[in-house]
Amino acid sequence: MGYQKLKGTPDFLPEDTNKWQFVESKSRELLSRYQFKEIRTPIFEQFELFARGVGETSDIVSKEMYDFYDKGERHVALRPEGTAGVVRSYVENKLYGPEHQKPTKFYYIAPMFRYERPQKGRMRQFHQLGVEVFGSQNPETDVETMVLAMDLFKSFKIKNLKLVINSLGDVETRKVYRQALIDYLEPFKEELSKDSKERLYKNPLRVLDSKDKNDKKIVQSAPSILDYLNDQSSKHFETVKASLEALDIEYVIDSNMVRGLDYYNDTIFEIMTEDPNFGSNTTVCAGGRYDNLVEEVGGPETAGFGFGIGLERLVMLLENAQFEFPVIDALDAFIVTIGESTNKEATKLAHALRKNGMNVEREFLNRKPAKQFKTADKLNAQYVFTLGENELAEGTVNIKKLSTGEQIKLALNDLYNEDYKDLTAEIESRLKK
Ligand code: ATP
Ligand code: MG
Repeated sequence: MGYQKLKGTPDFLPEDTNKWQFVESKSRELLSRYQFKEIRTPIFEQFELFARGVGETSDIVSKEMYDFYDKGERHVALRPEGTAGVVRSYVENKLYGPEHQKPTKFYYIAPMFRYERPQKGRMRQFHQLGVEVFGSQNPETDVETMVLAMDLFKSFKIKNLKLVINSLGDVETRKVYRQALIDYLEPFKEELSKDSKERLYKNPLRVLDSKDKNDKKIVQSAPSILDYLNDQSSKHFETVKASLEALDIEYVIDSNMVRGLDYYNDTIFEIMTEDPNFGSNTTVCAGGRYDNLVEEVGGPETAGFGFGIGLERLVMLLENAQFEFPVIDALDAFIVTIGESTNKEATKLAHALRKNGMNVEREFLNRKPAKQFKTADKLNAQYVFTLGENELAEGTVNIKKLSTGEQIKLALNDLYNEDYKDLTAEIESRLKK
């Protein structure tokens, strides 16, 4: 008997949520500096949106969707990624209209769902921080957005990251390249993995992305898409590279990198970690340009650029680096109660201290004073407020600063009457006397 969480789904316990809150709030600060605005879209959408948006032949749609029919016979799916929903919302809410700032820049921090084989850094419910920029074909948008992703990792002092870029050119380029790739791969057809064999004619670019060892060897000498770019795409890619160099941002080009989602064109990128504890799941951020997706989803022709960061992997990087997560809810005061008669007063005192801006915990179990002091110590309280029968009779409370052992008394009525604007400052100034 008993229940267990479903395979690949996480419980975040308080020691974890402390880390996540820190990562999220620090990320939001940086996103504000880049003027990205938060957007929140539904966790589930029409299945068709993802099938269309992400691409029918992608792993995500063909194998990993959590889809089902609801009680109204609608085919719905838990979102496997964030872009399709944001694009749908952009189109549905006509955010391309003239009253909106252009380019329009969004971010989200949200759970995603994929039916995968769970392993380290690969969950069925996981979280992405993603951004989307609509309405700019300017290659500097590609650069600024990639730099934002790099900055995010740098803001957490994460090292050993590699920015990998490539260009997929435009639709025409990929058509021509596709045939060149099929011509190259055909002689190896029988040697290819089962997945790659299936993709050879359906979506040969995905063969470049294969994780199979032998496939990897075969594609090493495949023709490079970079030799097929037209003038406009070449120029775009050259500008991106030059700007990254001007910013002293190191990158490598991998002409075999294609990305698992089908909607990209021109610049695509990944940020990989060289953290030795990471195993094979080394991509921590991935994204690129998608100039046809908005139209695909029913909107006007609108350029797009975005990325997704796997937050589980970001948190793992921080843990591996022994990152010191700050405590965000440090305890200011613990109230020790001595004797049943102080129980009610402790409630009143806790309320007054909290009104004064303090983080407060109190004794509820009427344990021996030594036990309560031990708890206060363990919780790292800055002050212990002690209410005993004597204090109650006098109308005072004893305050002890745990780090120094110094003590003072304050009148309860003064505390309750809000005579102190900044209680901590008041306590500190009295302790000094
Ligand atoms: P992979 O090749 O690792 O399966 P992907 O191409 O499916 O990655 P994207 O769809 O581009 O990944 O998602 C962007 C990022 O989200 C990934 O780089 C990774 O950090 C994270 N991510 C993707 N799937 C998962 C998952 N199942 N669990 C945890 N993080 C994930
Ligand atoms: Mg995947």
